[in-house]
Amino acid sequence: MDTKDLTAWIREFAGLVAQHKDELTALDSAIGDGDHGVNMDRGLTAVVAALEAEPPDSPSALFKKVGMTLISKVGGASGPLYGTAFLRMAAAADSVLDGAGFAKVLRSGLDGVVARGKAQPGDKTMVDALGPAVDALDAALASGAGTKAALQAAADAAEQGREATIPLVARKGRASYLGERSAGHPDPGATSVTLLMQAAASTLG
Ligand code: ADP
Ligand code: MG
Ligand code: MG
Repeated sequence: MDTKDLTAWIREFAGLVAQHKDELTALDSAIGDGDHGVNMDRGLTAVVAALEAEPPDSPSALFKKVGMTLISKVGGASGPLYGTAFLRMAAAADSVLDGAGFAKVLRSGLDGVVARGKAQPGDKTMVDALGPAVDALDAALASGAGTKAALQAAADAAEQGREATIPLVARKGRASYLGERSAGHPDPGATSVTLLMQAAASTLG
């Protein structure tokens, strides 16, 4: 995977978020303040524009631009969290990534989200989709799967992690203000992370 491939991943993520904007916003209306779709779409539209204005020349430069743009354009929890993930990914990325290199980069992103947001698994956040995705990617690669199959396993694990947030009571972010009433709905951030991983499976495999 080179800078061009990884740029295609980010563009595909932006496209999926635009397609699912209303759904993400409806999910956030149920347990938050109804802006997750709008927040992510605004941020990623700015990201795509920035990448077109000045195409980055390395994976590290790409991820840095994505992270900085998300932090500056997205108010709310998701901007700094996704932004930190991409900045950590920038620090971990070599100039060309194989499957294992991508897994290392993605785990650095997860570590950044956890460092910033302090969410544990089961707190009903984006960590509940990203954590299982990274673990599944590592496990698939360790068992000898090719990159394509491993990325699909990661996307499937993200989706399952998202489904598993439905019965959970939120312990972080705005949804936690609802207490028990946050149960019965999927987490919006876990849903957008599922789109991120689906975009990886379709563009990087
Ligand atoms: P806001 O809640 O500020 O309106 P968004 O609606 O854009 O921001 O994002 C909400 C999502 O952010 C949640 O669904 C959750 O996945 C994620 N989130 C919130 N707080 C945390 C946290 N401390 N750690 C990880 N993810 C979090
Ligand atoms: Mg919100
Ligand atoms: Mg908000």
